[in-house]
Amino acid sequence: MSLRKRISLRNTLAFRLTLWYAGIFTVSSCVAFLLFYTLITSWIRDRTDQELLGQVNRFSTLLAAEGIEAVKNGAVIEAQAAGVKKVFFRLLSLNGQAFSSSNMSYWKNITVSGTAIKELLRGSNPVYETITIPDRKEKVRILYALLSRSIILQVGEAMESYSRFLDAFKGIFIITMTFLIFVAAGIGWFMARRAVSGVEAVTRTAQRISGGTLEDRVPVKTQGDEIDQLAVTFNQMLDRIQTLLTEIKEMSENLAHDLRSPITRIRGIAEVTLTNGKSLSEYESMAANTIEECDRLLDMINTMLMISKTESGVDKLSSEEIDLAGLVREVCELFEPPAEDKGVTLSCNVPVRSHLVGDTRMIQRMLSNLLDNAIKYTPSGGTVTVSVSEDDTRVIISVKDTGYGISPSDLPRVFERFYRSDQSRSQSGIGLGLSLARAIARAHGGEITGTSTPNQGSTFTVTLPKSAKK
Ligand code: ADP
Repeated sequence: MSLRKRISLRNTLAFRLTLWYAGIFTVSSCVAFLLFYTLITSWIRDRTDQELLGQVNRFSTLLAAEGIEAVKNGAVIEAQAAGVKKVFFRLLSLNGQAFSSSNMSYWKNITVSGTAIKELLRGSNPVYETITIPDRKEKVRILYALLSRSIILQVGEAMESYSRFLDAFKGIFIITMTFLIFVAAGIGWFMARRAVSGVEAVTRTAQRISGGTLEDRVPVKTQGDEIDQLAVTFNQMLDRIQTLLTEIKEMSENLAHDLRSPITRIRGIAEVTLTNGKSLSEYESMAANTIEECDRLLDMINTMLMISKTESGVDKLSSEEIDLAGLVREVCELFEPPAEDKGVTLSCNVPVRSHLVGDTRMIQRMLSNLLDNAIKYTPSGGTVTVSVSEDDTRVIISVKDTGYGISPSDLPRVFERFYRSDQSRSQSGIGLGLSLARAIARAHGGEITGTSTPNQGSTFTVTLPKSAKK
């Protein structure tokens, strides 16, 4: 079953992103509409209020100039001119009794508000109110204002045209919004699909890899965005896994090969002795040979274990103050006899004092491996030089020989487990010495490097920090 089928649409990131996108778009549009709507309604109300106030001012002036009769006539004429369904005027006494009005046939339901009159009489400011005419749903804005000390003008204006405008505005908004929500959801879906397509590519590659093809890589676009970074990191992880798997494969092949030879030899010795062995001395020789081969095997297995433990940090290194100069001199003394036997001159250039914090046993083992190699791969008459130098933070130990050297093609591989160059196969060894030396140097927070010129010699340099790695 494909991944896409297994994940229902509702659970997909693209769907949720689209939903969020459309949701946020809708909410912000509605907020914008509400804001706009409130602004328009308040602007309409202000405009109506100003018109009503204008009427009041006109009638006040008329009252002062021409008297009450002129106001009564003016009200009738003004209502007719504006439209009797649009405005109305009522002249009221202070107790709210109407004594004159424009044509009120359309405004029969509109009464005089006692509360508004009281409020008006309490202060001199005009009082506004908005009422809805029963059965008509139509809104009317009404203003109560004093024309003189004893006359109140009630003037009203229908807000029907404004209501129609607002209704039309609402209708257009709803239609436009519905359309835009679909468009936004479409765009959101497209963008979300584009964004997650990179993640899907990673998922597809991971699926193919779990199906067995470790060579696959996620295609990386050149945009350098987060998805590209994910793809690059994922590919790097795959490279690492592939390298590790190749190393494990090579190592197990080498291990099987290197274990097979001594076991075959042990078996061969035993078989020959069983078939032909007559005397006790032959059996003794078989036992001695078997012990030797077993020691070789044990040595190989122990070194393997030591490399693994040192690399993984399972065995904690001890952090002791080491007299490095003394330690190097001791190791040199140890290797003096085999060097002499081989006709190789071993010289030791070590300062009087040099200290380092680390694991004495491990450092000793690392030095021994380097010296053992240097003597092993240097012909008679050659020289091996061990030197120690230091700066403020590091000590540098170098083991230089004038031996066979290492070819440029072999040099990068000599630190790999079980790697032995073809020329060195005639010499004893299991191909683990340098791997262990490197594991020890790294476990101390240092590094080991090698340089070589074929037929001229090699130099292995170990750099270690003076203080122990925490
Ligand atoms: P071993 O010496 O047991 O074969 P090492 O891991 O110590 O294994 O070394 C790996 C290989 O590196 C050797 O087989 C040899 O080919 C090469 N090598 C190491 N040290 C030297 C050296 N000083 N001179 C020449 N070749 C060397």
